[in-house]
Amino acid sequence: MIDSALLNASVSELHQLLTTRQVSSAELTKGYLERIDLLNGKLNAVVTVCAEQAIEDASRADERRTRGEGNILTGIPLLHKDIFCTQGVTTTCGSRMLEHFVPAYDATVVARLKAAGVVMLGKCNMDEFAMGSSNETSFFGAVKNPWDTNCVPGGSSGGSAAALAAGMAPLVTGTDTGGSIRQPASLCGVTGLKPTYGRVSRLGIIAFASSLDQAGPMARSAADCAHMLTAISGLDTGDSTSADRAVPDFFSELTGDISGLRIGMPREYFNDDLDSEVRAQVMSALTELEKAGAQLVDIDLPHSHYAIATYYVLAPAEASANLARYDGVRFGYRCADPADLEDLYFRSRSEGFGEEVQRRILVGTYALSAGFYDAYFNKAQQVRRVISDDFRSAFQSVDIIAGPSAPGVAFPFGAKQQDPVAMYMEDIYTLAVNLAGLPGLSTPAGLVNGMPVGLQLIGKPFDESTILNAAHRLQLDTDWHRARPAIEDHVA
Ligand code: GLN
Repeated sequence: MIDSALLNASVSELHQLLTTRQVSSAELTKGYLERIDLLNGKLNAVVTVCAEQAIEDASRADERRTRGEGNILTGIPLLHKDIFCTQGVTTTCGSRMLEHFVPAYDATVVARLKAAGVVMLGKCNMDEFAMGSSNETSFFGAVKNPWDTNCVPGGSSGGSAAALAAGMAPLVTGTDTGGSIRQPASLCGVTGLKPTYGRVSRLGIIAFASSLDQAGPMARSAADCAHMLTAISGLDTGDSTSADRAVPDFFSELTGDISGLRIGMPREYFNDDLDSEVRAQVMSALTELEKAGAQLVDIDLPHSHYAIATYYVLAPAEASANLARYDGVRFGYRCADPADLEDLYFRSRSEGFGEEVQRRILVGTYALSAGFYDAYFNKAQQVRRVISDDFRSAFQSVDIIAGPSAPGVAFPFGAKQQDPVAMYMEDIYTLAVNLAGLPGLSTPAGLVNGMPVGLQLIGKPFDESTILNAAHRLQLDTDWHRARPAIEDHVA
């Protein structure tokens, strides 16, 4: 079994241990596989384990290192969210529709990490088609929060966040369309970054809402996220929305110096919707940044209260178009004995998709239909611009924007499932960042009633470095990101 020092080691520390041969990637990989074996029955965070392949890849990484090749990530184990296509490995997207789908190619993110020598341990559970904030919509069952197994881990990258928090891998991937990296990172006490739209290729990521989806790293620290971000970022000619921007070495940009950094605090994010104890924790994190030399400035994002309504027109509209391909003919689930073509479509989609996905398809189809297109879809596009403009003007006077990542801590299973709007409110602080295409991260900011709280930092377009650096400063000055759930007690 992997010892606790290794379990809490950062990527840099693991790299050091691998380089000096104090541990091999094969040993590390076996240790994490055992950990998954031990804990997954309790958490349901991982849907596919690739034990054999992982051990083979680890030995190859060890050989690379022996030859003096490789880089910081070579031989580091990782889990992918099950939304990333992995060649030859089942990719379900949390859905019955894709229960048996085996992609013929790797997503660019997967391919880049593979090329870096990262070892894939398996695939993480997630909300079906990344629609949800609690991981309760997965066809493969809910994921449990390692801090309290009666509570949700957040979503949709809840499997990734829970696995990371429970020490099943030192690095995991996530995707974020409206908050799906930051909100589960907040609820599970880990660091998660949604990059600027276009920074990371979407090729091979199963599409939800194409103008909002972005992949990003989740890890135990901002520094570890920086390492992964460098590896996955950059132009991909296979994705026409991927940006042709130079990719810095994000890790070497972590100077820890934030003196003079102007941090905007939107009044709209610190209002009565925010749990008072969460607010106190977020404020104490901001006070730490102030002590380190940053300056806190009150700002306004006057249209932020339209973000949820805007997102829940645009995201379902895009989803309804993206999910039209699951027709029972070309991809995925097909119903038994269809009477005719219409019956084939109807039953394959009714049986293959869960309730939340069907709700989104209905809402999206409605918003795009001839009579309602202008009233809903077009109007929402206009409001999206106004929301983006709010950020643009705020960034004239501040360098980054800070607020909570989620309105509260992890909630019990079932608490919001019957009320879609209550669930949609979970992303009240994260959605606007996707609408504006900006980078945002969540970093741990202490506990409320024993459950993690996240501080969200939002950056200017393509300025991931500044928010990573501020989170890094906070992680140098506090131990919040080091807090671990006592999940072993549950399985003893
Ligand atoms: N919770 C939001 C939704 O259900 C965001 C999901 C996401 O970012 N993938 O749409």
